[in-house]
Amino acid sequence: MKKYDYLIVGSGFFGSVFANLAKKAGKKCLLIEKRSHIGGNSYTEEKNGIMVHVYGAHIFHTSNEKVWSFVNQFASFNHFINCPIAKYKDEVYNLPFNMNTFSKIWKDVITPKEAKDKIALQSKGIKEITNLEEQAISLVGTDIYNILIKGYTEKQWGRSCKDLPAFIIKRLPLRFTYDNNYFNDRYQGIPIEGYTKMFENMLEGIDQKCNANYFDNKEYYDSLATKVVYTGAIDEFFDYCYGELAYRSLYFKESVLEEDNFQGVAVVNYTEKEVPYTRIIEHKHFAFNNCKGTIITKEYPASWGKGKEPYYPINDENNNNIYEKYANLAKEKSNVLFGGRLANYKYYNMDKVIESAFEMAIQEFGANII
Ligand code: UDP
Repeated sequence: MKKYDYLIVGSGFFGSVFANLAKKAGKKCLLIEKRSHIGGNSYTEEKNGIMVHVYGAHIFHTSNEKVWSFVNQFASFNHFINCPIAKYKDEVYNLPFNMNTFSKIWKDVITPKEAKDKIALQSKGIKEITNLEEQAISLVGTDIYNILIKGYTEKQWGRSCKDLPAFIIKRLPLRFTYDNNYFNDRYQGIPIEGYTKMFENMLEGIDQKCNANYFDNKEYYDSLATKVVYTGAIDEFFDYCYGELAYRSLYFKESVLEEDNFQGVAVVNYTEKEVPYTRIIEHKHFAFNNCKGTIITKEYPASWGKGKEPYYPINDENNNNIYEKYANLAKEKSNVLFGGRLANYKYYNMDKVIESAFEMAIQEFGANII
């Protein structure tokens, strides 16, 4: 008889949600985490009275009622709505692409019809969509592509927009209304006491161990539980036998400033290629915090190699094909369940990770678990 029903590797959303539901089903779990803290990249830390999003902005949004009521068991959310600003040279523009953006870029555009006509004129050369550049121009025309998309995307991903999959740009809403909300979802907000507290509440009563790298002692950890829920990189799990999957990495530079309000908004995107960072976040604005001083973080895109943090999967055709081979191997391992952004090699938002953890819990424990 093993000591645990499930060994859960990784304490981000997938592992933590699954652990919570497994406990609810009466299962005994051990959760291990290689970092010194739980919560994955959603981890927050309080500094100088400001809740800092240590691994970049995490704004929770969903249209799924079940996901929203699930997370609300563990945290109260504030009424934050993400309305980022894009800075290009000496001008600022509203995001996502909406009537405020169009009327600022095109002085002769005020109505939705005028914006649509302008876009139709600028995108008429696009006959077929095979990459991000064609997708972007067909959606918003060449001016917006050049000012707000090309530079940002190419530094973010480290490759030409012509070599990137079209779906990435479709993450952003495109609206013909004067509405600066970056998301279309029904529910949105930030946990008032921080994400870390929310994870602590979700994991209450579950055995957990930080600074514990599964691969340092795989045999031992495997011996503890009947099943493993693995949320790390799938290529690493299979010892890169089909080669490495590509990721994009990031690094962050945090500064504590004496001034009280550095940029007047939580997120400013820097869309010129020449500026080395993609965005600056000012953490206090996520929380409507009026305290003295402020903390900002610059987010720099970076190439990925073994040992660096794999933030974004690069879901082009070549990598997706490699992933499929790993996914087929994964199917053969009946005692290991794979989930989350790294194990599914998928550019997931937080709510989608939760939905996929729900699906796995339903498979394991039945539909009543949610
Ligand atoms: N994007 C852009 N300009 C912007 C913001 C985003 O061109 O000012 C593009 C870029 O290609 C980026 C994608 O839209 O990778 C998705 O942006 P999102 O904000 O969803 O990225 P995330 O928050 O996941 O890093």
